[in-house]
Amino acid sequence: MQQMIGFGLAALLTAVLANDNAGANEIKNSNPISPGPSKNASEPPGLSAAGQRCQRVVSGLNRCQQDIVTFDPADETVRIPSKNRILSCSDRKNLPFYSRAEDMDIASVLFREYERGPIAVPERRSFQDPGRLRNTELLKSVYGNSKPSVEAKLVPVPFLGHWVSFNRENGAAESLERVGRRLEQLAGSVPAVNNYLKPFMSGKSNLANDTFNWRLIDGSKNLSAHSFGIAIDLETGREKNTYWLWEEKARRKKEAVAKRDQELAALKAKATPRSADFSEGSRLIDERLRQNIAKIAKLKESSIGAIRPGKMHTIPWQVVEAFEAEGFIWGGKWNHFDCMHFEYRPEFFPDLKPGCMSHGAKADKRPFQPWLNVPLGRPGPLLARI
Ligand SMILES: [Zn+2]
Repeated sequence: MQQMIGFGLAALLTAVLANDNAGANEIKNSNPISPGPSKNASEPPGLSAAGQRCQRVVSGLNRCQQDIVTFDPADETVRIPSKNRILSCSDRKNLPFYSRAEDMDIASVLFREYERGPIAVPERRSFQDPGRLRNTELLKSVYGNSKPSVEAKLVPVPFLGHWVSFNRENGAAESLERVGRRLEQLAGSVPAVNNYLKPFMSGKSNLANDTFNWRLIDGSKNLSAHSFGIAIDLETGREKNTYWLWEEKARRKKEAVAKRDQELAALKAKATPRSADFSEGSRLIDERLRQNIAKIAKLKESSIGAIRPGKMHTIPWQVVEAFEAEGFIWGGKWNHFDCMHFEYRPEFFPDLKPGCMSHGAKADKRPFQPWLNVPLGRPGPLLARI
């Protein structure tokens, strides 16, 4: 009997181990990205597909005509004069998503087009994540190279009754301010929008800490868009499972606990709960669960690959459209969803009007102070900080 239980336990734990390894066999790198070839001598005049994308990326970073980065159509390169850098539009590598995320060229920023307006969510097309690939070098050139240099470019923006800090470069801060005005108007006429925005406008949800945050993306080696002060999270606190990685971890944890329960039940069927074998077996099973949960907590994005879209944020489309009208993408449209996340990415909106109203023109070095003309209630902590 002793031997039987020991064997059964070993088989049980082997099965658990085999199941743990299943995650490693998931498709890590489906959906290779084809950035399109760069221009070569045999191509007809005009920009290659990669060159066209590159040109759009650069014009999206030049809304204030500051020429911090410039595009040269002759050889399809991007220049960063301040760093004396010349970058090729495309490295001509045909890389899968996660390899590309760690080895970005410029054309791949637009590897997927962003679709404006209401679309079917959750997005089930694998790696349909327009905007999740970012060229950090270009973002740093425009919005700041380091935490202190980004901080120096942050300005307080009035937004839904809060002061939030946003990057003044490339029209980002003033675009966010316009989004806020649109949202306030919408809240006055659309009950669903009013209901959604109420926690923010009433001060219940504090947005002051949901914009700038110099940090890596959870489970990744890349800087988050929040590092550059060009993203804002509308987190209502009503629903927690609005970010794909949190949801994936919660799902795996639930599965691990269910498996532990099954294993204990199987053990009970073979040994009496008071026996030494039972107590040793259940100790090992509990230990295995602890290890599994620790592993799940450390999961890297690239080790998960394809995801199962789950519970989604409920957000009125008018809110999403108010952001899109000003050059912001919504993370809720991503296959790897981030439903609270709005990010300023004008390159995805080629029809957006160029130029900035109050900041950035070469001849105009006045500080950007949009808050001067906007009546607002009690200022948040940001004002005290700046
Ligand atoms: Zn975010």
